[in-house]
Amino acid sequence: MNMFSLSQASPCSLIPNPQSFNPNPRPQQLPLPHSLRIISSNNSTKISTQTPTPDPDPSNIIDPTPTPTPTPKLKHRRPAEVNIRQQAHLYNPSTHNFSAKYVPFNASPSSTESYSLDEIVYRSSDGSLLDVQHDMEALKKFDGDYWKALFDSRIGKTTWPYGSGVWSKKEWVLPEIDSDHIVSAFEGNSNLFWAERFGKDILGMNDLWVKNCGISHTGSFKDLGMTVLVSQVNRLRKLGRPVVGVGCASTGDTSAALSAYCAAAGIPAIVFLPANRISIAQLVQPIANGAFVLSIDTDFDGCMKLIREVTAELPIYLANSLNSLRLEGQKTAAIEILQQFDWEVPDWVIVPGGNLGNIYAFYKGFQMCKELGLVDRLPRLVCAQAANANPLYLHYKSGWSDFKAVTAGTTFASAIQIGDPVSIDRAVFALKNCNGIVEEASEEELMDAMSQADLTGMFVCPHTGVALSALMKLRRSGVIAPTDRTVVVSTAHGLKFTQSKIDYHSKDIADMACRFANPPVQVKNNFGSVMDVLKTYLLRKDKS
Ligand SMILES: *Cc1c(COP(=O)(O)O)cnc(C)c1O
Repeated sequence: MNMFSLSQASPCSLIPNPQSFNPNPRPQQLPLPHSLRIISSNNSTKISTQTPTPDPDPSNIIDPTPTPTPTPKLKHRRPAEVNIRQQAHLYNPSTHNFSAKYVPFNASPSSTESYSLDEIVYRSSDGSLLDVQHDMEALKKFDGDYWKALFDSRIGKTTWPYGSGVWSKKEWVLPEIDSDHIVSAFEGNSNLFWAERFGKDILGMNDLWVKNCGISHTGSFKDLGMTVLVSQVNRLRKLGRPVVGVGCASTGDTSAALSAYCAAAGIPAIVFLPANRISIAQLVQPIANGAFVLSIDTDFDGCMKLIREVTAELPIYLANSLNSLRLEGQKTAAIEILQQFDWEVPDWVIVPGGNLGNIYAFYKGFQMCKELGLVDRLPRLVCAQAANANPLYLHYKSGWSDFKAVTAGTTFASAIQIGDPVSIDRAVFALKNCNGIVEEASEEELMDAMSQADLTGMFVCPHTGVALSALMKLRRSGVIAPTDRTVVVSTAHGLKFTQSKIDYHSKDIADMACRFANPPVQVKNNFGSVMDVLKTYLLRKDKS
């Protein structure tokens, strides 16, 4: 067979593939009215909801007196000069008193340290992580059925801001922000892909799902957190706080998400990137979105150090991963999974982890649903790491004894190439509290798993490959049973990572067999040659 290199055959190795995924446009609708009733149980007053009944559609009511010329009945629409932001303002006056604040992460019950979300603070007084703490007593005044009905009523609309999968849970995310200040691309509401063939053929499973968090505005789950962070910055600027822009050091998905949301709000975004160490695909999103891109002659860690020094001097808000606001948005993906299963809890949720914020965000989303009575248990979480960047895996294997940072080696799963994760404490807390597991995947395992998934109709990124190989190992060892309902979290769109797929299918990776490569066949421009290769192909397919 005539093999040729894909990267030579086409200029695609030079063409970046960032794709924007616009949510489906839907007809305008007003929020459903909620008929609240007060019920008394266990001496406490709870507010529940009757199943919301949509207004009867006037065009469905049959008029008993026939009229010769029926006049079309128009649905109510907002006045032409009012946009959806203003409409939200008019129809949704905030009357609740939910609130949230920063507290030190996992603080002792006696700690009284807390900060308003309107303060610009990234760490607690002793330098540890912060967490956004909601007033759970206020949220508990409403029962689980109320929240389920409320969240369900907001799905798939264009009502500002609830058309977003993040802001449809606004009361649990940033309850006090004015809807007017929210910066949203109607992110979230990503599909669950039923991995029918991958589950059946490769794992003997019948209830395997992939949560496509990467089918999103900038192509990764980072949008879920960035809409919250940029909205809060937008609010601070409207309140007159001195924030001239938002900055981050990143080579990938974080800078893409930051740049897009800042551009949508007209807020300056400043991105520090290591010169000559990133691909065109990683560079093009912030450039296209108008960010101020500084190309600095250092590596990622050097950029990180510089931006921390700069943000200490200048009123630039730091959008890096220790920022706990982002996790409030990311946790909604967990709530969404429960909602998509009609509030039934899956047995397993597998999340690829690098800086380890996302694994904690998933835990927090599930835990809030349990605490507020929407579900009665937690799924078991699996954090999947690349073997070349596996400090959490080593920590887990040591029985959670002393944590040691590692020097991360190169991995195709570049967004999780992190040796000293910022959110290590958050991840350990999450995994201990849900009987969680940590797994790892070698480069060959993750690339094979990614390619096998693609061959069953997916198009996943290498990070999702890490999660899929973790699943394969846990199935093989019998930890995950064939009928366990399992969700694999896909963190980015495969189109952001085409170069690794091209290298794999070209068998152009050192020390890798690339067992599932599917290279194109070079054929002469004549009928006989084409017929020959087709017959060979069809015979081979017939036998398999
Ligand atoms: C950021 C990112 C991750 C890692 O998330 P953490 O919260 O850092 O663990 C995984 N996959 C992709 C595609 C990412 O962009």
